[in-house]
Amino acid sequence: MESEYKDGIAWVEGAFCPISEARIPLLDWGFLRSDACQDTVSVWDGAFFRLDDHLERFERSFSRLRMICPYDRNSLRKLAIEAVRLTGFRAAYLQLIMTRGRPPIGSRDLRLANNSFFLFCVPYISIATPEQQEQGLHLIVSDIQRIPSTSVDPTIKTYHWLDFEMGLFEAYDRGGDTVILTDGKGDVTEGPGFNLFAVKEGKLLTPEAGCLDGMTRDTVFELATETNLECTLTSLSARDLCAMDELFISSTAGGLMPVAKVDGQSLGTSPIGPVTSRLRDLYWAKRRAGWHATLVDYTTTETAT
Ligand code: PLP
Repeated sequence: MESEYKDGIAWVEGAFCPISEARIPLLDWGFLRSDACQDTVSVWDGAFFRLDDHLERFERSFSRLRMICPYDRNSLRKLAIEAVRLTGFRAAYLQLIMTRGRPPIGSRDLRLANNSFFLFCVPYISIATPEQQEQGLHLIVSDIQRIPSTSVDPTIKTYHWLDFEMGLFEAYDRGGDTVILTDGKGDVTEGPGFNLFAVKEGKLLTPEAGCLDGMTRDTVFELATETNLECTLTSLSARDLCAMDELFISSTAGGLMPVAKVDGQSLGTSPIGPVTSRLRDLYWAKRRAGWHATLVDYTTTETAT
């Protein structure tokens, strides 16, 4: 019999349901005001990557938004594992979500809102297609400014993505695959779902500010330490990107992905440079060997509460 969760699963209002039936109430301010935050975890070869680190970042995000989650960390952990187990997915993309909920009808007082928790799990998603992983991505630098850090803290993982989405349309119109936004002063920040790394004279560089403290970015820092690669958090001028030896992006959705071109211009080491290639191979080899892994037991029949 075909599983009702073959396309994915969601946790909505205290119960699991097939992904196609998952709904957010229309009046939830998560929808009406984008008043929500999330964290996304990946599963590969039947194991979560950095699950506890993601749960910690998720708690940090919703606490900074002054939300209260109805579940403690251990219950969230169990729900995440149970969601993957129920789908049977060996490679999955799992998102934990907190929304503001809504205050009682007639009130606009944020403090009266009952915050809600949702979760969904679908088959693994990558920003780069297999061809783009081989050929490298074409990155467009947009003039659209990333929402300033002084307006919305970029280390809270939110759904404030209209700047990215308009930037993506611009990238497609200009023949690119994806986009990077600047801080309005000429330095790059991040892209839709990823952080950016550059390689110059054998050293790694990445934006210091204006971006999410990506879990994959942290993972790259660990790989750099392990391989004695110097890594500097700094400002990266958009103008200088084409002069870098290599560029790659990092995300839970795809790991480390090479950039071959910026604004139509090929990088010197296009399609994929030696440092990017080495780090990417190491990332996947270590994941396959169980690095930062939480194994999913697909045989148990225990149901999370
Ligand atoms: N920056 C933004 C805006 C993101 O949304 C994401 C992930 O979705 C990232 C960076 C990369 O973060 P991570 O490596 O934790 O997936």
